[in-house]
Amino acid sequence: MTKITLGEESYTCQLNESVLDTLIREDVDISYACQKGTCHSCLIRSVDQAPPELAQKGLKDTQKRQNYFLACQCFPEQDMQLKLPEQSEIFSQGTVVVNEMLNHNTLLLKIECQDIQEYFAGQFVNLQREDGLIRSYSIANVPKQDGILEFHIRRLPDGKFSEWLHDEIKVGDNIAVSEPQGHCFYIPEQADQGLLLIGTGTGLAPLAGILEDALKQGHTGPVMLFHGSREVKDLYRIDELREFAQKYDNFSYFPCVSSETASEGFIAGRADKAAVAHMQDWKGWRVFLCGHPDMVSSMKMEAFMQGVSMKDIYTDAFVSAA
Ligand SMILES: Cc1cc2nc3c(=O)[nH]c(=O)nc-3n(C[C@H](O)[C@H](O)[C@H](O)COP(=O)(O)OP(=O)(O)OC[C@H]3O[C@@H](n4cnc5c(N)ncnc54)[C@H](O)[C@@H]3O)c2cc1C
Repeated sequence: MTKITLGEESYTCQLNESVLDTLIREDVDISYACQKGTCHSCLIRSVDQAPPELAQKGLKDTQKRQNYFLACQCFPEQDMQLKLPEQSEIFSQGTVVVNEMLNHNTLLLKIECQDIQEYFAGQFVNLQREDGLIRSYSIANVPKQDGILEFHIRRLPDGKFSEWLHDEIKVGDNIAVSEPQGHCFYIPEQADQGLLLIGTGTGLAPLAGILEDALKQGHTGPVMLFHGSREVKDLYRIDELREFAQKYDNFSYFPCVSSETASEGFIAGRADKAAVAHMQDWKGWRVFLCGHPDMVSSMKMEAFMQGVSMKDIYTDAFVSAA
C-alpha cells in the first residue's frame, strides 16, 4: 500500500489500484474518461518525484520532464505528492461556429479555436463541459489557418456528452478544447504506398481528414476507404466521397451496411470483412483503423497477419468511458 497526497488530503492506494481508482473511490473531483491511457483526460502531476515510466507512455517529452502522468495508468511504487493541472494548462477556449446534422444521428460540429493551429487531421482533442465532464473527439479536417476544428459526433442513447452536444450546444457557445493528441494521421512519405482506411460510424471523422490530407498532398498510391454502419441511413458524406472517387483516379470508396441486403452502390456486410475480401496483397500497405474498439483490435491483428508491418498500422479506437 502507498500513500498519495493531493493538496491537504492523503489517500491510501491499495495493491493493484491505480491513482485514478483511488481518487474515484475517495470521491475526489478528478477528470477522466476512457480509463485506458488513450484519452489523457486524467493527466496529473507528481510534485516530489518522477512517476513510473509506464504512466507517462504517450505523453510529450515536455510533459514527461514536468512529471505529468496519467492517473489511470499509474500504480504507485512509493508515496507520491500530486497536483492537479490548472484548467489553462490543458484547455483553450473554443466557440461553436457550425452545428448541423450529417445524418439522422451524426452531428457536424465546427469549433473555432485560435490557439489550436498546429495539428494533423486524424488526431483527437478532449472537449470539456462546464461541469468538468470530458470526452475525446477526432479532428476531421486538415488545418486551414482559420482555427476551425471539425468534428463528427454520433448520438449515443443515454450518452452523457454526445446527447448534450446534440441537444443543447448551439452556435456561439463556448467549449473547452484540449491540445490535439494521438498518432493516427497521414505522413507524406512513400507517396506510392497503398493506403487502406477502414472505419465504422464516426470512425469516418479521422479517416475523412486523413483522406483529404493524403489526396491533397499528392499521394499517388491506391487509397481505399471502407466505411461501415448498420444501415444506409447511418452512413454519411456518401455523395461527397463518391465525388472524391470520381475526381481522384487512385481513390476508391466502399460504403458497407451490415444489417441490410445490399442496395445498388453499397456492399452488404461489415466494412472490415469487405476489406479483407477485397484486398489481395497487403504487403507494403499502410493501414488506418478507426471507430469501434473491437473492429480496431481485430483488424490490427488481421493486417499484421496479412503481412503489414506494425509501424504501418495506425489506429484510433473509440474506447468509451463506461
Ligand atoms: C481517441 C478517441 C476518439 C474519439 N472520436 C470520436 C469521434 O470522432 N466521434 C464520436 O462520435 N465519438 C468519438 N469517440 C467516442 C467519444 O469519446 C465518447 O465515448 C462518445 O461520444 C460517448 O460519450 P457519451 O458521454 O455520450 O456516452 P457515455 O455516457 O460515456 O456512455 C453512454 C452509453 O453508451 C455506451 N457507449 C459508449 N461509447 C459507445 C460506442 N462508441 N458505441 C456504442 N456504445 C457506446 C456506453 O457503454 C454507455 O452505455 C472517441 C473516443 C476516443 C477515445
